[in-house]
Amino acid sequence: MYDIAIIGAGPSGLFAGFEAGMLGLKAVIIDTLPYAGGQCSALYPEKPIYDIPAIPAIKAEDLTHNLLKQIEKFNHTFELNTFVENYIKQQDDTFIINTVQNKSAKIIQARTIIIAIGGGSFGPNRPPLENIENFEEKSVFYMINNKEKFRGKNVVIAGGGDSAVDWAILLSELANVSIVHRRNKFRAHESSLKELDELIASNKVTLHAPYQMKSLNGEGNILHSIELENINDNTTKTVDADYLLPFFGLSMEIGPIKNWGLEFDEKHIKVDYSTMMTNISGIFAIGDIASYKGKLKLILCGFSEAAIACYSVRSFLNPEKAFHFEYSTTTFNK
Ligand SMILES: Cc1cc2nc3c(=O)[nH]c(=O)nc-3n(C[C@H](O)[C@H](O)[C@H](O)COP(=O)(O)OP(=O)(O)OC[C@H]3O[C@@H](n4cnc5c(N)ncnc54)[C@H](O)[C@@H]3O)c2cc1C
Repeated sequence: MYDIAIIGAGPSGLFAGFEAGMLGLKAVIIDTLPYAGGQCSALYPEKPIYDIPAIPAIKAEDLTHNLLKQIEKFNHTFELNTFVENYIKQQDDTFIINTVQNKSAKIIQARTIIIAIGGGSFGPNRPPLENIENFEEKSVFYMINNKEKFRGKNVVIAGGGDSAVDWAILLSELANVSIVHRRNKFRAHESSLKELDELIASNKVTLHAPYQMKSLNGEGNILHSIELENINDNTTKTVDADYLLPFFGLSMEIGPIKNWGLEFDEKHIKVDYSTMMTNISGIFAIGDIASYKGKLKLILCGFSEAAIACYSVRSFLNPEKAFHFEYSTTTFNK
């Protein structure tokens, strides 16, 4: 039984882990992704952030690294690859949280919940192709764990950003790679673009641009070929494909938490800013998902909300106790 279940390992959730630890609260930090950092890790790890107080510039991935280092000593439990679905409030006011971890159900018990889910959980943007679901996990992949399975195969990569370009370069060493893009220009690191141009010029990667995918052809979940359509003149052609790797970025979905009975302000959870508590007793919300008058969706605001929420949780769990406010300079124990 944890004192707090923090849903979301983005910057707000991670800093809530720090504040919880400082206040002697035992926390579990849950995230759908296999790694911590939220948007910082999933969307812009290489970008510098300039508005973290007292840090003139820091790469998003370094911010995540530092946040993880800052909470290391509290030994909180991390449940990654874990999607939070719903909760049951017990008679003693504690929560049973139902999650899915690696396709199996897993229950987590906590006395309070801090929701720090940002814009929601990340999922791939699927190309609008009929029956694409039939091929997923067998012939169509949005993430690559083991590039060896592509050795000697016909691999079609779709997309025009960094992921499409980087994977085309990497897989060209071991597979027969084609890249499909709606435009003639890619948006990626300059050095990668140069490398891709060289691979195309030496026929190590085949370019189909400006083309879009029209249909997938195969049997069962095994892909054989993809029909492509020219964006300018609508002519079509078919390319052999054992695998399709679409890289069209990530979308964010609030998911089942939308149905928890929480009061929403469009896509955000309304909170009382003095405590960060939602309309459900014992459930708090912080970071991008939290809404109150004057809210700014900034990491630094998420940090402040994490502190307010954890102090509120401590008082909520110990209503009979009066706590003295203390600074980290006096309480922190290296
Ligand atoms: C390109 C870009 C640049 C940015 N630059 C800046 C900047 O310079 N300065 C700044 O202050 N802000 C910046 N931001 C915004 C900043 O990244 C967000 O404000 C911040 O990430 C919000 O943190 P969070 O912890 O609230 O949510 P998130 O970072 O969104 O993390 C939420 C986490 O919750 C997880 N989650 C969601 N649903 C579930 C579920 N049901 N079960 C389990 N886990 C779940 C998600 O997987 C995710 O990891 C930028 C954003 C982008 C996209």
